[in-house]
Amino acid sequence: MKKQWSKKYKKCLKCKTTENKHYAFGMCNICYGRNRWKTKPDYRENIKRLSYEWREKHPERWKVIQSKAIKKYMEKKKVTE
Ligand SMILES: [Zn+2]
Repeated sequence: MKKQWSKKYKKCLKCKTTENKHYAFGMCNICYGRNRWKTKPDYRENIKRLSYEWREKHPERWKVIQSKAIKKYMEKKKVTE
């Protein structure tokens, strides 16, 4: 008998493939990650909070990242205008 993708599921419930490893609740690691992102706003909040904390801890590095992002944005704007 061929080995099944997971104990309970033959393939991922979301993407219907067995390409990625089973992660949880019948979903592969990719779909589970996506699903979590969509369905759990607290997860998103957590990311927001973590990035905020990181900014607080590394203000200099954050400034560099931000100025790069602004520069990129301005360059893009110049092109589209
Ligand atoms: Zn999947």
